[in-house]
Amino acid sequence: MAADRRVTSPERGGWPWQRSLQQRIVLTYGVIFFGVLAFLMVWVGRIVYAAQLSDAEHNLELQAYLAANTLEDPLSGYNAEFDAFARWESSEDTTESEEDDHDDERGDRRDHAEGEDEGDHPTVLPSTTASPSPAVDRLQQLARVYATDTGARVTILDAQGNPVVDSQFVATTLDNQIDEREVQTALRSEEMHDVRTDPLTGVSTLFVAAPIEQSNTILGFVRLARPLSDITRGIWALLLQLFALGLLALTLATVLGYWIARRIVRPVQKLEEASLAIAGGDFSQQVPVESHDEIGALGGAFNHMAEQVSHMMTQQRLFVANASHELRTPLTNIKLRSEALLSGIDDADLSQRYLREIDSEADRLGHLAATLLDLSRLDAAVDGKNGDPVDLLPMLHNVVAAQRLRIEQNGLNFHVELPPSLPSVRVWPEQIESILVNLLDNALKYTPPGQSVTLSAQAIADNLQIVVADTGNGIPAEDLPHIFERFYRVDKARSRRSAAQSQSSGVGLGLSIVKTLVEQNGGRIDVQSTPNAGTVFMVSFPVNSR
Ligand code: ADP
Repeated sequence: MAADRRVTSPERGGWPWQRSLQQRIVLTYGVIFFGVLAFLMVWVGRIVYAAQLSDAEHNLELQAYLAANTLEDPLSGYNAEFDAFARWESSEDTTESEEDDHDDERGDRRDHAEGEDEGDHPTVLPSTTASPSPAVDRLQQLARVYATDTGARVTILDAQGNPVVDSQFVATTLDNQIDEREVQTALRSEEMHDVRTDPLTGVSTLFVAAPIEQSNTILGFVRLARPLSDITRGIWALLLQLFALGLLALTLATVLGYWIARRIVRPVQKLEEASLAIAGGDFSQQVPVESHDEIGALGGAFNHMAEQVSHMMTQQRLFVANASHELRTPLTNIKLRSEALLSGIDDADLSQRYLREIDSEADRLGHLAATLLDLSRLDAAVDGKNGDPVDLLPMLHNVVAAQRLRIEQNGLNFHVELPPSLPSVRVWPEQIESILVNLLDNALKYTPPGQSVTLSAQAIADNLQIVVADTGNGIPAEDLPHIFERFYRVDKARSRRSAAQSQSSGVGLGLSIVKTLVEQNGGRIDVQSTPNAGTVFMVSFPVNSR
């Protein structure tokens, strides 16, 4: 059987993640998550860095001002130290000019430093040694105390920017600092800080300076310097924590994403399996519908489709079985009679009768073949495309003219009720004619002589309704729901008998063709019938729609 055929899904190319929806969902999820985490870290890092830096600036500025305040207090006596330093400086300059005609650049101060060394590097201050000028020992100690208190390098400069003391280096080995930005703004008594690479340590450093003023005269400056790494160390720790938390969240999200993706993909895989089974001929396939979302809707639609396909296949098989059965009956009749004739019949009348019956059965076969062909053409026709708006009245009059004689010759009364005008409808008139001929044909077949057949048409609401009614045999209630099915006959024996007399149909295909034609023209057909009282077929088409 076809159900045994194994159908496998076609080869899927590309990278593994391109072949798996699940992997793609998880990967996309992960990449987005990682991107958001990175963005968050940069963003938070920048905000925290800015806040920390501004905090550090304020603190350092405050410390510098406090130190400057102490130094400018006349009672503290530090002004005497600045004076002593100035005197020492000038004596040093005099010695220098005597020794050498060298100019007065601050860089040369290094050559005179205590414990001097070769090259450009300033001398690191030994922990116990006092400054080169004993006169500024108190300043040196103060610088060290502030350095311990603030954690910054403290440099006290004179009014010209010459380092007087430094908490870390021998001051006289340092360059003049008057051109540095923080000193320049302190000179204008403004708050100032600067971030730059300290040439002495080679690291990014925050510099802050405050002027030491006494009665509007600048004695010097207190300059504090703190490496930025002190400030950023905390930020890095914070970012590291954030990153670790992010990674943890990413892991959890990946596991969760994998689970969610699995839930999404599983029904799709089931759909694939079921589709392959259907392709292999097993039409009983149904997939479980576990959710109310789009995937659930897809599953529902799939199940409906599978049911429809299954139903269509059953119908198809039934149709083929019925068709072959219907073909076999006249063929058997022909075969029996031809065999009898071949074996030699003396009775000339009987021979003639057999030949007429063979002829009639051949006609029946021809008619059946033509009907089946019509049906398959109708099945293949693309519906949904209706014709131009058309007035059906002329066609209705033609049908009346063509059928009247035949109906009346069968001893029936033919009533026609057509209004002077009808609204136009979008249909193919030849097909509507075919519908009416079929219905009138049935009325003729199933109505005894003396009774009547009526054809009428009228506009009802937005529809054009055409009615074919008769006062004939009627259809039993239990048969009514089935009369539009292919090969369905109410009284099979009766139909076949009448078929032997009349070549028109009699195999139960007429009404199924009528229904297909009505639907392909955008209309609908209804039937009402009472046994032994009559049958009414109502065909209606929407007026000028589509
Ligand atoms: P058939 O070729 O047998 O007429 P149809 O498809 O046209 O096939 O009709 C199906 C069955 O419906 C018929 O066998 C008949 O019993 C019943 N039928 C159709 N039209 C009428 C009618 N006007 N009056 C009574 N029975 C009818």
